[in-house]
Amino acid sequence: PFDVLVVGGGPAGAAAAIYAARKGIRTGVAAERFGGQVLDTMSIENFISVPYTEGPQLAASLEQHVHEYDVDVMNLQRAEKLIAPEDPNGLFEVRLANGASLKSKTVIISTGARWRNMNVPGEQEFRNKGVTYCPHCDGPLFKGKRVAVIGGGNSGVEAAIDLAGIVGHVTLLEFDSKLRADEVLQRKLRSLPNVRIIVNAQTTEVVGSDKVSGLKYNDRATGDSHQVDLEGVFVQIGLLPNTEWLKGTIKLSPRGEIEVDARGETSIPGVFGAGDVTTVPYKQIVIAMGEGAKASLSAFDHLIRMPVD
Ligand code: FAD
Repeated sequence: PFDVLVVGGGPAGAAAAIYAARKGIRTGVAAERFGGQVLDTMSIENFISVPYTEGPQLAASLEQHVHEYDVDVMNLQRAEKLIAPEDPNGLFEVRLANGASLKSKTVIISTGARWRNMNVPGEQEFRNKGVTYCPHCDGPLFKGKRVAVIGGGNSGVEAAIDLAGIVGHVTLLEFDSKLRADEVLQRKLRSLPNVRIIVNAQTTEVVGSDKVSGLKYNDRATGDSHQVDLEGVFVQIGLLPNTEWLKGTIKLSPRGEIEVDARGETSIPGVFGAGDVTTVPYKQIVIAMGEGAKASLSAFDHLIRMPVD
């Protein structure tokens, strides 16, 4: 069995594995797709100390760094169930989709999250060519340009306020007849001179040739269709944590994120969470790596307190 089994091989999982392996303990990583969301990213300009890199390159570096150590990397393996031992000092079991079962004294869950898509024509085609999901990552790429933010919840309105300070103009589109964001955020948004808010707007298409040049939407009140000319579309309609497989085992927030304490520990002693899958705010690479390292050190602390077998 492992001392530490990491489930998920994104930045959080890679950091957790390296920190565990450096303690000289038996470490495994099971990941559906090693590299995680980083594999889907083009340019990365906020990974501190590396002014510019690209997703596939960073993912390859993560993998290379993990392989510097004696870590059992099981790529293309999806976890389907976590089973806690009856005896608190027993072994956790993680069942994989291929039918195999892994056993470990502690488990670090870093299965990440995925952005909810609009599922309209042009969205996938123009991904990284104007369509983006991350204002903290890509806002500066649209300096002085016109962008849309899709979604009038807290994350959409926060993104619109943030972007209004960087880009030329922001159009915020909300499907419903009113914004759902906190009133204080809405007030802030309405005070900004370069923001237009459109409610009852159903986005129907992202248009462009080699990159985005506009967005089409239907006015749900009148049925009319409209087009807005712009260079960027920020989709902010939800981030879905990859925790479906954990329902009924560990405590999740109403949004489905794993609830962790300041040490990264979940509701089950010996099980830790790190990165985008947890309640820790701001989903970013540097944050996920820090959280992965922290969860690993916490797992080690847990292990050295276990009875000698
Ligand atoms: P993830 O990267 O999501 O990794 C999760 C891992 O778990 C993957 O290996 C996945 O295959 C695996 N997994 C999921 N479910 C299971 C399962 N059931 N069993 C086994 N394995 C499973 N952040 C920045 O800081 N800067 C940027 O410029 C930036 N740009 C981005 C651009 C895009 C297009 C996207 C999508 C995200 C971007 N981000 C950026 C966000 C950043 O990628 C994430 O915050 C970061 O990858 C989170 O790391 P993580 O390890 O928590 O999760």
